[in-house]
Amino acid sequence: MAKEIGKDRFGDFYKDGGKVRKRREWRGVEDTLYDYSRWLVIMGTLGKFMMKPRNVKAFFRYRWMANYLAVPMMVDRHTQGLRGEYLRICHTEQDLIIDDVAKLLDNLFRGDRRTGNDTEFSKKVVLVDENEMTAVMMGFPTLKCLSRETPSTYVSVLLNQHAAEHYIDVAQEFGLAGDVCPMPEAEAGVSIDDDAPVLGACAIQCNTTCDGSLLGNGVISRRLELEDGIPVFQLAAPLRHREDDVQEYAAQEIRNAIAFIEKHTGEKWDWKEYFECAKRVNYATRCRQEWLEMNRTPYPQVFGSNLALYTETNYMAICGRIAAFEKADRKISKLARQAYEKKKRAAKEYRHRAIIWGVQSHYYMDFLVWLLNCWGIVPLTDMLSMVSTRELAETDTPENRETAIYDMAWLTENMIMRNRTHGGYKVLLDELWEFTQQFNADMVILWEHMSCKALTGMHGMFEDRARELGIHLVWVSHDLFDPRIISRQGVRDQINNYMRTVMREEPIDPSLEVLHDEESW
Ligand code: SF4
Repeated sequence: MAKEIGKDRFGDFYKDGGKVRKRREWRGVEDTLYDYSRWLVIMGTLGKFMMKPRNVKAFFRYRWMANYLAVPMMVDRHTQGLRGEYLRICHTEQDLIIDDVAKLLDNLFRGDRRTGNDTEFSKKVVLVDENEMTAVMMGFPTLKCLSRETPSTYVSVLLNQHAAEHYIDVAQEFGLAGDVCPMPEAEAGVSIDDDAPVLGACAIQCNTTCDGSLLGNGVISRRLELEDGIPVFQLAAPLRHREDDVQEYAAQEIRNAIAFIEKHTGEKWDWKEYFECAKRVNYATRCRQEWLEMNRTPYPQVFGSNLALYTETNYMAICGRIAAFEKADRKISKLARQAYEKKKRAAKEYRHRAIIWGVQSHYYMDFLVWLLNCWGIVPLTDMLSMVSTRELAETDTPENRETAIYDMAWLTENMIMRNRTHGGYKVLLDELWEFTQQFNADMVILWEHMSCKALTGMHGMFEDRARELGIHLVWVSHDLFDPRIISRQGVRDQINNYMRTVMREEPIDPSLEVLHDEESW
């Protein structure tokens, strides 16, 4: 039991073959009390959620709801080893995300025809995909923009590694190909299994990233339109998003999507609200830039899962629409500056500076914490956090209203994942090597998501360039939502093998090298 960073052997906390750990971490009186108080807040959020009869009904109606029992365990995994400012940054982010997801679930079940069945509320709901930039909702303050896929599949896998397996199997039994990306496949499986809440005036689907997501959307929109009677708009954003000649087309798609929402909800686009949201998006961008700037120095502050999970939520799902995230951005920046001035570090030893590239495995998001604690590899930034830094027009003028349409188009084209997996060599390959130089990184951890054709096709090109530049390139294969293909230990072993055989290093914390966590959440 140690107050000092790095004194504990974190592997000893795991129960072999168990779901949860043996005990909570002792972080010294102040940090342990803080952590415990945040644990109480999380339990309070969950308790408040379960007070409503419709949510209890939903808990037994929807299979994936059981995963939410693991919320406290997920937070424990991401706070592993953290002290002081790092612990507070993590809780500021995670607690807000938990609160936001609880509100999302509450709203879904309020409008859901099977549980709350509030028909007036349902008329004000616009459904969006899980992996969709919500920019077209920035000017509709009276509407609720809700994603069913976020809580049923995306968050579920973060909570419980086995959450998506059932739905992947359902989709394949239905006849969908087994080599499709498990993310859209699981989302389609939820729809085929009739396990998604049914509500909404209309839905906006986006050609998010790839053939897999188009396939998933096809299955889901069929049920929405033909069985549930919910009209769906297909927002087809161009994939060659860096080219000037596609921008007019992209802008027209935004105009069409807004007109579609107005038609089906009876609401009017509100420019005042849009520009308020744009200001918040710009503020979030400036904060992220500041954090990344610090990560270029020997004293990175907001990195690893503290950067990745929060950016994914704030950039895409929130997109300036919720003021609480601006407050969180401010607090995180303050804590980061404080730690930076004191030249603080989050672990006892930093050995390597790494850029994490490719699409990460969702059943093992705390891998970034493990990298740091086990091998001293500092995950400075990751592909999904390297998103648009363009500032949006934020003053309401006639010219800016036209610019705003292009800004929303740009954001939609530059959603997380698609801004790198599509758009050509420059965004996926060339910029990676620019980042390694800017961040002074000696290592690239390259997630090789085996069902993502966008990335696997460039395997050799990554290797050639890494060799030329003298960067250690470590491939880590996984299957995104499906730990049956490559387990968490299978992921760890790829790093362990590289570090022992190529780097000839010993782990900082040997107790983490092999963990029997196959059964854990
Ligand atoms: S990980 Fe790859 S295959 Fe899966 S949704 Fe993203 S781009 Fe598509």
